[in-house]
Amino acid sequence: MSQFNPLLQTQEPVYYEMDLPSRGIPYREDGTMVDIFQEGALSDDGKVQVRALTTKDELIWTDQKLVEDLKAPMIILKNTVLGLKKPEALIRADVEAMLLQARVLTYGKLTKVSWACSECRSANEITVDYTKLPIKHLESFDQLMLNFKNYQIYMIPIIFKEAVEIQKANDNSVSEQLDKIVSCIQRVDVTDKEGKKVTVTDKMMIAQWVEQVNPKDFKHIINHFTEVNKVGTVMDLDVKCSHCGYKEKTDVVVDITNFFSDED
Ligand SMILES: [Zn+2]
Repeated sequence: MSQFNPLLQTQEPVYYEMDLPSRGIPYREDGTMVDIFQEGALSDDGKVQVRALTTKDELIWTDQKLVEDLKAPMIILKNTVLGLKKPEALIRADVEAMLLQARVLTYGKLTKVSWACSECRSANEITVDYTKLPIKHLESFDQLMLNFKNYQIYMIPIIFKEAVEIQKANDNSVSEQLDKIVSCIQRVDVTDKEGKKVTVTDKMMIAQWVEQVNPKDFKHIINHFTEVNKVGTVMDLDVKCSHCGYKEKTDVVVDITNFFSDED
């Protein structure tokens, strides 16, 4: 029923292909995370199509209330990523990479990073190319699996929405970390004494188990958690002070409130 609008003929959205840090593996190999993309929107090798922001998208981004509730990134992703149905179920690394891509397509690839030198306290600033930041990809489903003793654990990198909620809900870092680990564990297979394999997906049961395992076994779990969550854009940079030459690392801080703004 839509009428042809001659004003819009040069404004057909152009989509650009990008690689997801997860390569789409968590959304494909396991039945718990289906229906996040429309059929065909996520390629077999983990590519999606992203477009630049429109003026309306930008207004959503600058809506203070939406930004505070963290609804803005979800709406932006739904608008800019072709065939994305459930942005809230995406892992954080993919959310960050997609927002970065949308940002690059809209305002360009350069951003300024400033830091104070730890040695001489001088203020420094460099220009960083977002598209040159290294990305650690997930390579295979096996990287998500951890086997020890009679346990087989399937863990995914943390989901954006859950990471935000866990951070809000916890007032100490121990319970925050435990919640994050449980959030990442999707399934535990355990072989009982009779050799029968039982699959547990209930988060309450998994939480009880994680809290009670002995410290040595917990170390396996936390190491796996750390490894799995390395997936994503590497945001720390090697920098050198322009005044005293001191070398250190600093983060490319993506400030969510001015992320989508034209700095150049
Ligand atoms: Zn310095």
